[in-house]
Amino acid sequence: MDTLKDIGEFGLIERIKANFASKTNIGIGDDCAVIPIGSEFLLVTVDTMIENVHFFSDQPLFNLGRKALSINVSDIVACGGKPLWAFLSLSVNPSMRLQLLDEFLAGLKKSCQEYNIELLGGNTTKDDKLSINITLIGKTNKPILRSTAKQNQNVYVTGTIGSAACGFFAVKNKVSSDYIEDFISPKARLDLVDKLTPYVSAMIDVSDGLLQDAMHICQSSNVGMDLYLEKIPLCSDDNLSDIEKISFGEDYQLLFCADKMYEMNLDRIAQITLIGYTNDKKNFTLYKNGVVLPINNYGFKHF
Ligand code: ADP
Ligand code: MG
Repeated sequence: MDTLKDIGEFGLIERIKANFASKTNIGIGDDCAVIPIGSEFLLVTVDTMIENVHFFSDQPLFNLGRKALSINVSDIVACGGKPLWAFLSLSVNPSMRLQLLDEFLAGLKKSCQEYNIELLGGNTTKDDKLSINITLIGKTNKPILRSTAKQNQNVYVTGTIGSAACGFFAVKNKVSSDYIEDFISPKARLDLVDKLTPYVSAMIDVSDGLLQDAMHICQSSNVGMDLYLEKIPLCSDDNLSDIEKISFGEDYQLLFCADKMYEMNLDRIAQITLIGYTNDKKNFTLYKNGVVLPINNYGFKHF
């Protein structure tokens, strides 16, 4: 155990968490920090996108501006909130062409207008590679956490899973695909937050891969989960396997649990699919047509 690689990304986060536990707020471990303010709760999240790590150098900057905000909005939505105020930290190469910077800012502005967010500040530094870091603050009356799922509940996912994965591989291999937009300019599901919050017990956004994000709910809530691959709404692209589609991430859909008594209420909401159930077994099982599938890779990790 010499290097960070030995403990992994989540080991690092656990190590930080062990040193900085909060007594009054919900801090490290959920999609957002949750800070009670009067009768409401502030939600705070931060995400970074780095050139050649999260995006290709030739990716259109207008879309990148939109995506940088959307991925943060997705975390606010996962906690049952609405986004309000953003802060932008940029590391830029001084030789960057002004036209490209303007494209990035136009995309970011468009995204701020779409989600009704004000950009209120940030920070600027120099680096060889472009790095975009956004802190986003939102609010909610009823925070929804990863850690509050109960056993014997339904597990749902919104939208379609795997589109961003297929879009990523198309961009990487420079081939055409119907899914490129889903990778370069995903949308957060702010449209669903009011509809879902009355029924949802626990929620996470699908950023690291559906399997890994489902595992986060299991571990935080101390429940087990059975998921059924044939029920998961996957994009219809034959270039990737079903397993690749559910372990790549960047879908920015919502994965949530809800009590079975709300099944009829949730059936009436479009673009929501029942994909499994929580249980008391404390382990996670993926089935395909009744057969248990071994899982070698749950999802994306930085290291
Ligand atoms: P998400 O995919 O929802 O953005 P992450 O996997 O990035 O979530 O982070 C999981 C949790 O760990 C979050 O609560 C986040 O705030 C916290 N976290 C991640 N990295 C750090 C860090 N370097 N310092 C403190 N907290 C961190
Ligand atoms: Mg998240």
